[in-house]
Amino acid sequence: MSHQNLWDSCLQHFKEQLPSQQFNSWIKPLIFEANGHQIILTAPNGFTLKVIQERFLPEIASRAQAFFSAPAQIELRVEKKALQASPKNQIAPAIENPSLIKKSQKNSVRLNPALLFDNFVTGKANQLAHAAAIQVAESPGTTYNPLFIYGGVGLGKTHLIQAIGNQFKQENKHAKICYVHATNYISDVVRAFQTKQFDEFKQYYNSLDLLLIDDIQFIADKPGTQQEFFYTLNSLIDANKQVVITCDTFPKEISGIEPRLTSRFSCGLTVAIEPPGLEMRVAILLQKSNISKNPIGEDVAFFIAKHVRSNIRELEGALNRIEAFARFHKRPITVELAKEALKDLLAAQNKQVSIENIQKTVADFYRIKLLDLLSKKRTRIIARPRQMAMCLARELTQLSLPEIGNAFGGRDHSTVLHACKTIENLKNTDASLNADFNLLNQTLRN
Ligand code: ADP
Ligand code: MG
Repeated sequence: MSHQNLWDSCLQHFKEQLPSQQFNSWIKPLIFEANGHQIILTAPNGFTLKVIQERFLPEIASRAQAFFSAPAQIELRVEKKALQASPKNQIAPAIENPSLIKKSQKNSVRLNPALLFDNFVTGKANQLAHAAAIQVAESPGTTYNPLFIYGGVGLGKTHLIQAIGNQFKQENKHAKICYVHATNYISDVVRAFQTKQFDEFKQYYNSLDLLLIDDIQFIADKPGTQQEFFYTLNSLIDANKQVVITCDTFPKEISGIEPRLTSRFSCGLTVAIEPPGLEMRVAILLQKSNISKNPIGEDVAFFIAKHVRSNIRELEGALNRIEAFARFHKRPITVELAKEALKDLLAAQNKQVSIENIQKTVADFYRIKLLDLLSKKRTRIIARPRQMAMCLARELTQLSLPEIGNAFGGRDHSTVLHACKTIENLKNTDASLNADFNLLNQTLRN
């Protein structure tokens, strides 16, 4: 077994255990090297390194020990050249990796027959997107073209776009449909370049009746791919062929994509999928559990929905865990059992975040001194992180405004309130600040 097997098993483990955003932020950017019993993990920045050290090193060490049947020597390094923790850049090595290029077969339809409108629960959070999707599946190319669906991870974008494909396929047996994840589209472009089969590539994409392209944010900072996609998009739309695009943000907010392309994205219909509210989370759980042999009651569904709030993928994860737990112990699913099965998750949620921890994490994240964060300095480079830390403290601790002000070098409660408002407003207009906030928020909660 090669060292790579060891790393693959670590990746697999974390992929299963962590929400994908965390996996992408912390684990995926790591560069793994090994020599004998020595392992070197290179992180893109000090903050990531610290997170790895504190949260993930024990697991990696124990896997390495099992692999070598002896304690491993693990060295953590920071390397500027390492991949940035942002998903757009993570794709770069995949394109340069010829084995991956070969793997993605461009003309496979890649529709998943399980993702249908029938099993897509609707509610306030997604009803617009759902209605637009149905409309597009029924009269493609004529109403909203392109249809652009955006929203956070695990909220149902892939499910919805695949449902469009499946519905369309059912009604148009001979139609040429392509579902492609943006990363595979990039690979297709690269391969077309490499093998000088550009005409074939163009012909294929231009001849489609329906193009479904998922997670378009991945083409950021890939000018060659963007140019190709721009041509494909125009030619399909001009021919009244339907294009559906999903993305993690609003078109104008994707950075690293040419304006002519983002403005083309918004020339059809742009709809959001929001995180589901409590009732909708309950409805989703009841629907999912109804297909199993051992459906849960409403009380259990409410219990899960109250505690798992982030997204639908995590709801499914919690439900699966409870069902597996019940099967294993041969017990009926009750709220008591759900509590036991989700013990770790609940404990993590109840863990109080200390204000000191928030301050330290934010200072590390922005690479400023903790003392500066707590000082009276008003330069933007210090003041913005300070406002961020105050806002996080308001959200993650039980402290009152004056108490938070106090913890930041004796400031007034109105300063804290102002900081929270500023950050809340900026979150709507500044995508990168919004991303920082979410990352910090998630890191601190764990
Ligand atoms: P995204 O692509 O936005 O990250 P997915 O479409 O992969 O999210 O959804 C995550 C999981 O949640 C999938 O298993 C999907 O089937 C399920 N899911 C998402 N939205 C719904 C919904 N409205 N009703 C039922 N299941 C859903
Ligand atoms: Mg998806």
